[in-house]
Amino acid sequence: MTHVARLKDLGDVDWMREALCQSTPIVWWFPESNKANAYNHARQICKRCDVREECLEFALRTNERWWGMYGGKTPQERRVMIGMKPRRQLGGLG
Ligand code: SF4
Repeated sequence: MTHVARLKDLGDVDWMREALCQSTPIVWWFPESNKANAYNHARQICKRCDVREECLEFALRTNERWWGMYGGKTPQERRVMIGMKPRRQLGGLG
């Protein structure tokens, strides 16, 4: 039941069926390094993805701020979008 409740909390995720990243290496989306160029492969694929807006909205709605490429935006780019301060100003968190 917990899983069902959590999936329900995610809202509409039907768009994920059209995600271009489905059959690509997961490391492109969640690289060990969080540097912007670590996401180059992912960024190129996201540019061509038809559900880019839905994907980004999902990440923002679910507070996915720290890991992974969503909707063509890195974690750092998403933090800027929501007005979070850069990492250095957060006292080393994240
Ligand atoms: S926008 Fe990028 S991360 Fe999101 S579903 Fe499409 S390919 Fe995957």
